[in-house]
Amino acid sequence: MKPIKHFKRAESRIPLKFTVWLYFVIFTVAVFALIWVFQIFFFEKFYERMRIHSAAKSMESIAEVYSSCDKEKHYDNAMKITSDDEMKEKLYNIVYETGDSEDLCVEILDKYGREVMKKHVMGECIIHDKGGSVLWLLNGIDEADDGIIKLKMKHPRSGSDMLVYGCKLGSMSEPDGYLLINATIVPVEATVMIIKRQLMTITVILIILAFIISLYLAKRISAPIDRITKSAEILAKGDFNTKFDGRGYLEAKKLADTLTYAEKELSKVDTMQRDLIANVSHDLRTPLTMLKAYAEMIRDLSGDNPVKRNEHLEIIISETDRLALLVNDMLDLSKLESGKQKLNPTEFGISAKLSEIMDRFKGLSEKNGYQIHFTPDEERTVYCDSIKIEQVIYNLINNAINYTGKDKQVFVRQINTDSGVIVEVEDTGDGIEEDKIKLIFDKYYRSENHKREVVGTGLGLSIVKAVLKMHNYDYGVRSTLGKGSTFWFKISDVKK
Ligand code: ADP
Repeated sequence: MKPIKHFKRAESRIPLKFTVWLYFVIFTVAVFALIWVFQIFFFEKFYERMRIHSAAKSMESIAEVYSSCDKEKHYDNAMKITSDDEMKEKLYNIVYETGDSEDLCVEILDKYGREVMKKHVMGECIIHDKGGSVLWLLNGIDEADDGIIKLKMKHPRSGSDMLVYGCKLGSMSEPDGYLLINATIVPVEATVMIIKRQLMTITVILIILAFIISLYLAKRISAPIDRITKSAEILAKGDFNTKFDGRGYLEAKKLADTLTYAEKELSKVDTMQRDLIANVSHDLRTPLTMLKAYAEMIRDLSGDNPVKRNEHLEIIISETDRLALLVNDMLDLSKLESGKQKLNPTEFGISAKLSEIMDRFKGLSEKNGYQIHFTPDEERTVYCDSIKIEQVIYNLINNAINYTGKDKQVFVRQINTDSGVIVEVEDTGDGIEEDKIKLIFDKYYRSENHKREVVGTGLGLSIVKAVLKMHNYDYGVRSTLGKGSTFWFKISDVKK
């Protein structure tokens, strides 16, 4: 058998086990590479961006609270109620909350640059340094077009990085005061070092874990496939009792089930082929033995006796016919199944064709006492391959004659329907068992109780099936045990 070749080729490829393991390890390494790049190399950038964002956001929200209080104040003035204390409290709250939560130094100054409110957090800060830098910053705000400054600078003494943001409070042209915000950018090297150590340990542990898990996984995935492959190799050697074990996961089970199904089919074909060879060789040997025996008889005994000689010659001729029938059937089927044969459709009347076939059976029925009843319907013109359809009808009637009951009755019917012409062939024989019905259209299938007087090759119905499939016609059989069978097919190419 051929498949051995494929095994050889598969061997030179990378095994599934290794592929699964490799992908898993690559995935783990890639994940860690990504974590390392982000945590170690971009950590500082992320941190700085976060500080910039929080400083800007805080400045905005404090300025917003101030302006909302400012509006309320005007309104309250009109009502002659002063709410200065309330406004201060609101502002105080937001300044303290923001300072605490965002770790920022905040200062609110009046329009002359005098301190009104301040929140100082731990660490160095430029805006709370008594060194004249505040005035310089306020100047900067006054000079800025939009009244806002956003600076990144170094602390004059320690040299650490700072973000200093400032804006006007109240109107742009005549501000009520100023807001200054100071965010320290803490050096992150120490933090990065700690993360690096942690990551290193985690990476080592996880890579080892990934290694072990992937090995286990790879084994789990490939084990059923290995098992199934081993069984398939046994099957390839011709053992049709091989069991396929697909435990493990759904795909393996499906593969095992499919192979079990294929095994069953293969075994069926194998048995059928064996049966065919047995049947065919039996059918070939019997007429050949007869041919030889009668030829010898003519040579040695009846050569001079015209009556005997003719009798023997008749037997030789009928045995030759039997041989020709068998060989023809085999040839026909192999031609049909090779797909080389094309249909040659023509238009003809189906009633006329059926009557013509009936006439051909007349001689046989008269000789052997068979009665073939034909019930025609109105003539219909059909469009199909007349020679092949004739063979279908012929094979069905032949079978009906062969398998009909002792009363030797066969019924052929033409039934016109809207969707086509149905041709039925009924006999009064033993019928066909339910489980055999599926098999009879298979190649080489012959019933076990096949008798010599029933001339057949086990190919007749296979030819019927091949022809009807080529035409795409529906066909089937209804059978009742002990009562008989009705084979039918429907010619759907009917001229309206
Ligand atoms: P065969 O040459 O054996 O008749 P077929 O392919 O024509 O081969 O038929 C296959 C088998 O189907 C037969 O061996 C027989 O068992 C069954 N069969 C076919 N036609 C009939 C029928 N009219 N009644 C009962 N059994 C039938």
